[in-house]
Amino acid sequence: MGITSPEKMAEVENLNSINLTRSLTDMIIAQDAQGEIDQSVIAEQKKRFSRDRQQGQRPALNPFDHPASRHREKNPHRTGDGSVQLANITTNQSKGFNLNKQEFVDAVALRYGWPVEGLPNTCVCGSPNSADHTMTCKKGGFVCIRHDEVRDLTASMLKEVCHDVSTEPTLLPLDGELLRYRTANTAPEARVDICARGFWTRGQRTLFGHPGLRPDGRLPS
Ligand SMILES: [Zn+2]
Repeated sequence: MGITSPEKMAEVENLNSINLTRSLTDMIIAQDAQGEIDQSVIAEQKKRFSRDRQQGQRPALNPFDHPASRHREKNPHRTGDGSVQLANITTNQSKGFNLNKQEFVDAVALRYGWPVEGLPNTCVCGSPNSADHTMTCKKGGFVCIRHDEVRDLTASMLKEVCHDVSTEPTLLPLDGELLRYRTANTAPEARVDICARGFWTRGQRTLFGHPGLRPDGRLPS
């Protein structure tokens, strides 16, 4: 929502920086210790870069700048308390907003911490329901989705540097071994998140596990 991409701006900003420091660079190359830089020229250059930057970013920062939303800007449908009904904004697939009306309303409510409409009072697990609970309830799918996203991303990166990378491999069954920690998974079909060979030591396997994350990125308490 109105955030520019540093990756797309980096090349232009690098050229700006080179141009801005060119007179200083020339003086250093010429080993000129007495010369002075005209600060008014530098200030003028900075102003021009800033103006060009703002003009260049304007289209990217107005994803809804098309005829339909311009019409709505002139005639916003306001609710009783005067706030603009965000549900009237057209979702725009070409800009990466691939949500339908209901998903868009829910996404805005979640983003701003507003109540989500139509949420049942009680979850199927029996707990009182809330937007936060729907994200963290183990009966829902979001816990698994977040866990699997991190697992698959980590595995894809490990594949670039390690051999024999697999996800969710089954561990060897226990034959009466005693494990030091009580939290150790001793189930017959116990699995680990990722297995990769050659991570710490050449040829040796390393097993990776992660506990999954809360929607805000914190570890579960
Ligand atoms: Zn629940």
